[in-house]
Amino acid sequence: MFKPLPSVPDHPALEREILERWDDEGTFRRLREQNAGGPRFGFIDGPITANNPMGVHHAWGRTLKDVYQRFNAATGHDERYQNGFDCQGLWVEVEVEKELGLNSKREIEDYGIAEFAERCKERVARYVGVMTEQSKRLGQWMDWGNDYLTFSDTNIEYIWRFLKECQQRGWLYLGHRSTQWCPRCGTSLSQHEQAGEENYRELEHPSLFVRFPLRDREGESLVVWTTTPWTLPANVAAAVKPDAEYGLRDGGWRLASPEEKYDNVVQGEDLVGLEYEGPFDDLAPQHDVVHRVIPWDEVALDEGTGIVHIAPGAGAEDFELSRVHGLPVLTPIDESGRFLPGYGAFEGLSTDEAAEPIVEALLDRGRLVEVGTIVHRYPICWRCKTPLVFRVVDDWFIRIGDLRQPLLVANDEVAWTPPQYKKRMDDWLRNMADWNISRKRYFGLPLPFYPCDCGQLNVIGSRRELEERATGGLDQLQELHRPWIDEVPISCESCGKEVRRIPEVGDAWLDAGIVPLSTMGWENPEWVPHGYATGAAEHISGADLPDHDYWEHWFPADWISESREQIRLWFYSISVMSMTMTGRLPYRAVLTYERVHDEHGKEMHKSTGNAIEANEAFERMGADIVRWQFCGQNPSQNINFGYGPAEEVKRRLLTLWNSVGGFFIPYANIASWQPKWGPPPQPEHALDRWLVARTALLVAETRDAYERYSTPTVTTAFEAYVEDLSNWYIRRSRRRFWDGDANALEVLWWSLVQALRVIAPVMPFLADHLWRTLVLDGPESVHLADWPEPGEPKRELLDEMAAVRRVVELGRQARAQSGMKLRQPLRRLVVQGAESAKAQAEEIADELSVKEVEFGPVEATELRVKPNLPLLGPKLGKELAQVRAKLEAGEFEELDGGRLRVDGHDLSPDEVLVERRGKEGWAVAGEDGLTVALDLALDPALQLEGRAREAIHQVNTMRKEAGLEITDRIVLTLPDDLIDHRDWIARETLADRVEAGDDIAIERL
Ligand SMILES: [Zn+2]
Ligand SMILES: [Zn+2]
Repeated sequence: MFKPLPSVPDHPALEREILERWDDEGTFRRLREQNAGGPRFGFIDGPITANNPMGVHHAWGRTLKDVYQRFNAATGHDERYQNGFDCQGLWVEVEVEKELGLNSKREIEDYGIAEFAERCKERVARYVGVMTEQSKRLGQWMDWGNDYLTFSDTNIEYIWRFLKECQQRGWLYLGHRSTQWCPRCGTSLSQHEQAGEENYRELEHPSLFVRFPLRDREGESLVVWTTTPWTLPANVAAAVKPDAEYGLRDGGWRLASPEEKYDNVVQGEDLVGLEYEGPFDDLAPQHDVVHRVIPWDEVALDEGTGIVHIAPGAGAEDFELSRVHGLPVLTPIDESGRFLPGYGAFEGLSTDEAAEPIVEALLDRGRLVEVGTIVHRYPICWRCKTPLVFRVVDDWFIRIGDLRQPLLVANDEVAWTPPQYKKRMDDWLRNMADWNISRKRYFGLPLPFYPCDCGQLNVIGSRRELEERATGGLDQLQELHRPWIDEVPISCESCGKEVRRIPEVGDAWLDAGIVPLSTMGWENPEWVPHGYATGAAEHISGADLPDHDYWEHWFPADWISESREQIRLWFYSISVMSMTMTGRLPYRAVLTYERVHDEHGKEMHKSTGNAIEANEAFERMGADIVRWQFCGQNPSQNINFGYGPAEEVKRRLLTLWNSVGGFFIPYANIASWQPKWGPPPQPEHALDRWLVARTALLVAETRDAYERYSTPTVTTAFEAYVEDLSNWYIRRSRRRFWDGDANALEVLWWSLVQALRVIAPVMPFLADHLWRTLVLDGPESVHLADWPEPGEPKRELLDEMAAVRRVVELGRQARAQSGMKLRQPLRRLVVQGAESAKAQAEEIADELSVKEVEFGPVEATELRVKPNLPLLGPKLGKELAQVRAKLEAGEFEELDGGRLRVDGHDLSPDEVLVERRGKEGWAVAGEDGLTVALDLALDPALQLEGRAREAIHQVNTMRKEAGLEITDRIVLTLPDDLIDHRDWIARETLADRVEAGDDIAIERL
């Protein structure tokens, strides 16, 4: 007996039950044992930051990772299941600051860096736990508990080794530049961190037009435009475009417009070299500055006045110009974005706070021409969303130029899905700037740089090297983090003097970028149990440090999968680091995907209330439904994710549920039919043979789709299959199931079971639940059953049934046009153009409720043909008019394949528009060379049969309304005129006795 199913599935409940079963039965462990030593399918996980609970947007990537891992397990592959967590850097620091209510770097230092580091570690440990539980709930099978954590000492040592290699190649340098700076985080940020569209916002800023009076030109001024008043106290120059025209009006020079009148017009180059009075010459830092006009070809002419105010200490391009023109660099603000001493009344103010007093001061001095506001696109900190400023600081960089070409060449070999993303990677590689790796922060990778006064830059490449060269502090070195690492000075390898580490920590993408080497034991001589889980990771993970043989076996990964923005982040950093150390990319294939929006297509934000918590989604929709939504989505487009689409998925999946629980199980149980695990059935009945072939086709289609990383193809193919199974096979076979036909039961059971195997990677819970319901003597879990091997689908069977279904579809259309109910049987259907459906004439007759099906020319139609002008016009030219006339007059010959011969021209089917209309008494429908015609003539026998069918329908509706089971027998009352069909009606309605009466009535026996 099969266990009956409820009428609708409770997804969350059955998922929790399956999770328990997997736990109890060790299903995942057994799967890995089963596949150990099989062909390799190597995966490297990109780390998720263990910092907050998982959002639904994380579930997209985690679903895809799990789907392809499961598919490859089903096909017998040995796989890597190590999950990764990112554990240090700004992500973690900013959240811990919020938690502790700290608002600046000074407050962190007052709190204590050691204590702060402990809080960061606690937060990571907490969210490693939370995310692990969430991922399990999603159904993701990973080697939980043996995760890699990027703040482990082992990971840090591998990065140190990479940095030392960069130094030895001469790629490491200290850059003095103007960089984007977050005043809240107190650190510079790099190009790749900031490049995303989400790191910009529309912001309102002041818009000022300011006069800079020219020296030696009485009454004349330059008029400049700025949206950053705070940069004016650092002004040292004004730039003009040398070949542009400037005009003087009301004493102010600005870009000349052809429509305006001016007192004087000159070329920009005529202004170059003029000196002017700066806006804040009274400030101490300005005392020795000589302000002058400089040439700059890049001056924007489409906004402002064509004269650009230059403050090299507060802008990137300004800083570059200062190098070219030898300008002084005034740096007005400190690392928290506040004015430094020397800036008078502005001292201590933030850049925002200073705007108003600056405007007032300009007004007082008569320097303000115009003041307003502007809304423009402005960069914000990727981490804390604070608007950025520019500061000139010293940062450490890795020179990337030597890697650009090898990376481009290697990328050409990578299989990208969707394929257009390969070019995005190329674009990134072509444009990437040197890698800014230093952050002026606390809890991150300690950069192992120890510069010495003698000019030597000491770079430490390993913990052992640190221990060998340390001059003290090793006893307190609990792990390779600040503040402990800062207490270990070393001796300079050049002059022997004691030197200290720089205070900076590293860009978090170094942490994530090293993992294809650090987690897989590159150049590690001996396997060390738990050897990866060192330092801060020691009590959170049990990860081993494998040996170099392991690395050789698994590197490069066969595939990786992360969201598209990782092109400039993780894909980039792993590529740079592996290419540097091994000369190879760490992956062969990439699957990438876009962003998660709400169901109306809007970005999800906690603040707008449209964000969906992952846990809530799992418990309200079910994890399978979450997964199905993601799998059904084309990865090159954003997904509109939500409860509405979830309901739609549930509704569609109900067809599968009903086929099993609402149909198969009740009939199999009535027939006491028992399944037997074994090879595919070899049925004889045409519909059975078709369903076996249809199932083989599903297996072939989905395997191909999984291998091409196309889950949308998998879900579409599966839905089409279930539709065929339910709305064709089951519907056409009802009678055989009523009769308990063992062949039909066997074929349906076998087909359902194969379908569960192919869909199990996408919805592991429902598939396993149904598997455990249906499979009584086979593998315990669908996930322990291999990929099905039903052989090649028999094409001729599929083609034949496809033709039958087209005939039926057109037959239904013809009936619908005629307004004749399907319950009214008709005498005859004529079919033209579907010879392969001939063998199934009985199926067609029964399905369309006609007495006979004829294959031959349909003469019951009038053919109307018109030229398809866009195609035929150019082809026929002047002759078109005559051809059109002949077509209208019906003077043409029909050739095979839908072609026509008219007036000496052979026309293909797409060159004409054909319409067939039924003659009186016929209903006709046709498309693509197939035509069917229904004879609508009725005789008394047909009419009576129609009434009998109507009665059967009515009785069965009454049975349902009376709450009868499908096995309950009845006494049936029929009116006299239906008595001739008594036996048939009784059989169809499970009536044991029929009585005559005025109206139809039933009574339960
Ligand atoms: Zn910030
Ligand atoms: Zn030295």
